[in-house]
Amino acid sequence: MTRPPLNRRLAEFGTTIFAEMSALAARTGSINLGQGFPDTDGPEEIREAAVRALREGRGNQYPPGPGVPELRTAVGDHQRERYGLVYDPDTEVLVTAGATEAIAAALLALVEPGDEVVALEPYYDSYAACVAMAGGTRVPVTLRPHEGTYVLDLDELRAAVTDRTRLILLNTPHNPTGTVLTRAELTAIAELAVERDLLVVTDEVYEHLVFDGAEHVPIASLPGMRERTVTIGSAGKTFSFTGWKVGWITASPELTAAVRSAKQFLTYVSSGPFQYAVAEALRLPAAYFDGLRADLSAKRDLLCEGLAQAGFEVYRPAGTYFVTTDIRPLGATDGFAFCRSLPERAGVVAIPNAVFYDHRDQGAPFVRFAFCKRTEVLEEAVTRLKRLA
Ligand SMILES: *Cc1c(COP(=O)(O)O)cnc(C)c1O
Repeated sequence: MTRPPLNRRLAEFGTTIFAEMSALAARTGSINLGQGFPDTDGPEEIREAAVRALREGRGNQYPPGPGVPELRTAVGDHQRERYGLVYDPDTEVLVTAGATEAIAAALLALVEPGDEVVALEPYYDSYAACVAMAGGTRVPVTLRPHEGTYVLDLDELRAAVTDRTRLILLNTPHNPTGTVLTRAELTAIAELAVERDLLVVTDEVYEHLVFDGAEHVPIASLPGMRERTVTIGSAGKTFSFTGWKVGWITASPELTAAVRSAKQFLTYVSSGPFQYAVAEALRLPAAYFDGLRADLSAKRDLLCEGLAQAGFEVYRPAGTYFVTTDIRPLGATDGFAFCRSLPERAGVVAIPNAVFYDHRDQGAPFVRFAFCKRTEVLEEAVTRLKRLA
């Protein structure tokens, strides 16, 4: 073989850092605060709902292409009750194999080769790969550390839009920085999208995980945005069943049909019995969502305080599963080297934020820790990390 097997579009991506770091955690017996998955399962009654669906033969054969009606209706009700966004379950909701497939299908459906996709950097690792698979060009707009949080420079965003820009790919609450875009920021983004006639694909998988009374605002709810926005949701993070891979989009009939055109040739359908369980999960009482937020925000506090005591500079997140830190106060500058040596030095695994950047140097001194773990696990991690101080 003279030609390498992997095509040029994907050659730059290699293996995801999560595989390397999770293998390192297993090999060294370290506490894995790298990959963002909870170490306890979600609500028992929802797990039982999946078992029931499986036993009763619901979803064991190919479910309908757009998703089972029970789930599409539950998604529609969820968007209406929480945000006042009305979507027709038959034409404006599409169930996907997690948010990951929704992102891939949306980009494959909406982007022509040569189109530019503006995305907030640092970004979730599948964005860059999916833009590349769609033949698009990614144009990063970098969130920058400022007074203990990460902020979006709206002028930089405006300057990133050109005549070739097809869409803005948003993520709020934002992984890995924990930034929750404000209503004012989203309004400015919406005005830009309307003025330049852009589509917006918005990844809102952490919509329920906002702390300190922060408000999650779906950009689709802002003036002029409903018809140009594909909103992506997922059950994985909200209900602590990341292995079930049940996600969805809500969008206008035209956009939904376009995304479905790509989705039907990716998985066609997935997660049959789990779709019924997630339909029930979306109807859990407010107490569930409040409890989830309270639990995670206490864990955020525990880990943030411990990291600060261990000597990190901490960017306290307003949402998500993650806290980003700066390792320079510990005398380190290279997050990759730091994360590769951390298991040996402290028995903890974290992720170098540089992997989420095109401008790797900009992300070099930042390291991400996940706090979606049991309290005793976080306490032990903090004890170990304090050895670095
Ligand atoms: C976890 C995550 C996803 C993937 O969601 P799945 O439903 O598991 O596919 C997508 N986007 C972001 C920002 C995430 O953190």
